[in-house]
Amino acid sequence: MSGQDSHVWVNHLSVHFGVGKGLLGGGSVLKAVDEVSLEIPRGSFFGLVGESGSGKTTLGRAILKAAPISAGEVRYRDEDVDFDIGMMSKAELKEYRRRAQLIFQDPYAALSPRMTVRDIIAEPLEVMKLTKSRAETDERVREIAAKCRLNLEHLRRFPHAFSGGQRQRISIARALVCEPKFLVADESVAALDVSIQADILNLLKSLQKDMDITFLFISHDLSVVAHTCDYVAVMYLGAIVEMAPSRELFTVPKHPYTKALLSAIPSLDPDDRGTAQKLEGEIPSPLNKPSGCRFHTRCPIAVERCAAEIPAWRELSTGHKVACHFAE
Ligand code: SF4
Repeated sequence: MSGQDSHVWVNHLSVHFGVGKGLLGGGSVLKAVDEVSLEIPRGSFFGLVGESGSGKTTLGRAILKAAPISAGEVRYRDEDVDFDIGMMSKAELKEYRRRAQLIFQDPYAALSPRMTVRDIIAEPLEVMKLTKSRAETDERVREIAAKCRLNLEHLRRFPHAFSGGQRQRISIARALVCEPKFLVADESVAALDVSIQADILNLLKSLQKDMDITFLFISHDLSVVAHTCDYVAVMYLGAIVEMAPSRELFTVPKHPYTKALLSAIPSLDPDDRGTAQKLEGEIPSPLNKPSGCRFHTRCPIAVERCAAEIPAWRELSTGHKVACHFAE
């Protein structure tokens, strides 16, 4: 991957929040995202995985310019534009809002109960004034609803009439109606039953091909990204600790944290069951990060050096990067 080929390029991005008296007033600084660099290739399904509190949601929001960028750079590139997300003009921000969208976590909370499905899906078009008439809006809504496999009869109904899976299809249709090129899906299947999860993931994959969309797919669950993503980045306590093409990450993981997450995935092989290495302890507070390697307080193979020295972020093979002293 090179900076020029990427759709979204993140370089040493930090997102810090002031706690107590704030960033300048002598209180503590919460480093939710700490010098993260990554490249999301155009047309890819890029997975971002980590436990709750790892900073993955904040990273996704900073890329969408929905969280403050404290340091570093995010660039969005398409054939005709090159936006520096932290320095956009008003006109660029408006265009970026059309091209980059978010699918919300919770299909129950995301939809206004007082709006019909038609109005929910149409709202972004109307707010951004992308259509010239109600007839044109209706046409776009019907088109995207059909792509999201929604029954057109349902457009007149209210969200409470639908199941979780159907509501998530409505959320997806709303996110896609402006024909974005980049979508952040944040825990978009976490609230759904396993069988419905597979259905929604298949839908996202087919939409990706059909509409030429780049996805940033955020999940706490490696098993969900296993069959979906082309690339996976694993995040721990505000930093990426491993990143690789998906197949490689799942077959030859190098970082002990990735290995622990993988080993927690229930196996279908009965001889394999019961061998999972449970990750011990809670993720430390981002207000009080461990010294050296930030994973050393939970790492099963940590040695003295790990608490003293920050491991270098380095490439072991093409596209496979890791931050661990003993990855080799
Ligand atoms: Fe574990 Fe040390 Fe590697 Fe960190 S650097 S992951 S503590 S072995």
